[in-house]
Amino acid sequence: MKTLDLIIKKRSGDILTDQEITFLITEYVKGNIPDYQMSAFLMAIYFQGMTEHESTALALAMRDSGDKYDLDLISGIKVDKHSTGGVGDKVTLVLGPMIASLGAKFAKMSGRGLGHTGGTIDKLEAIPNFQIEQDYQTFTKQVESIGIAIIGQSENITPADKKLYSLRDVTGTVDSIPLIASSIMSKKLASGADAIVLDVKVGSGAFMTNLLEAEKLANLMVKIGRLAGKKMTAIITNMDEPLGHKIGNSLEIYESIETLKGNGPSDLVEVCVEIGAHLLIDAKLYDNFEEAKKALVGTLTDQSAFNKFKELVIAQGGDISVVENPELLIQAPTYKLLARKSGYLEKIITSEVGVAARVLGAGRLTKEDKLDLEVGIDLHKKIGDKISKGDLIATIYHHDKGLEEAILTLEKALIIGKNKKEVRLIEKTIK
Ligand code: URA
Repeated sequence: MKTLDLIIKKRSGDILTDQEITFLITEYVKGNIPDYQMSAFLMAIYFQGMTEHESTALALAMRDSGDKYDLDLISGIKVDKHSTGGVGDKVTLVLGPMIASLGAKFAKMSGRGLGHTGGTIDKLEAIPNFQIEQDYQTFTKQVESIGIAIIGQSENITPADKKLYSLRDVTGTVDSIPLIASSIMSKKLASGADAIVLDVKVGSGAFMTNLLEAEKLANLMVKIGRLAGKKMTAIITNMDEPLGHKIGNSLEIYESIETLKGNGPSDLVEVCVEIGAHLLIDAKLYDNFEEAKKALVGTLTDQSAFNKFKELVIAQGGDISVVENPELLIQAPTYKLLARKSGYLEKIITSEVGVAARVLGAGRLTKEDKLDLEVGIDLHKKIGDKISKGDLIATIYHHDKGLEEAILTLEKALIIGKNKKEVRLIEKTIK
């Protein structure tokens, strides 16, 4: 097989075979295909697209390029969820304990944050001593005994995706639906769960800003997962405002704990209950969607989800005193942002709220950036809320770094107007 022929074949709009796709990926990882040829190939995909079958072959070839987790040692149906990334998205931290307290097996490998979005692993590290690295045996044993483990992805998971993503980043080929779908699904397939719910975010804080594109991405990921033998669901959820109120690592742990104790914001609870009900049905623990939802709400009111979270923290070596006294997590000095005029909170440029949190130190611009886990933003208003001039709209937790830029960014991101708008949280379900 010749790389040049395959580039020309894709450039002409022809369909590649599984063998051809596997050849390109394996030879690229080995260093036998130079970046300039792979860049041309990615650009050909960008313009010509890929069929569902080709996208699946690409996801599988990337999955097979590194470590794969075999979860067969854990009994029952293993479930997983994935978010395409949002601002204030703490769903994994709340949903995991909720479903595990009802008997599901949640074997979760999570990532770190980059750009304006946060990552679950960074958030968990806000709990002192919480161990995000575990060997395979400890991981599977923990899921078997308490139903939940959340760890960082192995360094050697899907190396092909890492190499390709870096190349896409500098060749203008990131926002191609087949490339995004196969990238995300390669990691999900390597993680080994039997049933996966994808939370595809759409809106001003999401990768996909329009519903049609989000739907195309969700449909393709569901198809790839099914062709690879997984039970798949996707929900498309709105990210025109942050989920919940708090953005920043310690702050999000605080809000997750409050939610697990039954005092959480309604949007966060709604997304967790919706995703959780799909997972409980897929795990064959429930057969009625409404009953599953009721049971999930019950785990928040009777504290069983909170107790499961404590089990998780103890099992992974975390300091339980911050879970018992979450105020310990929000000790940074504060700056109060007051409304400059009256009206309704009409629009939020959510990605800019993420940027404001990042400049304070809560997020990364490059993989090497060090985080300040204590800083972030508590947004007191949601879209549609009435605001009077002088009202407290946000509390900024900071250590001086980036404070002025964060204030300016946040002021531009929170748009007060005359119209009372509403957000529809769950836009669509693909089952
Ligand atoms: N997230 C991924 O993992 N891959 C992409 O291509 C885009 C977002």
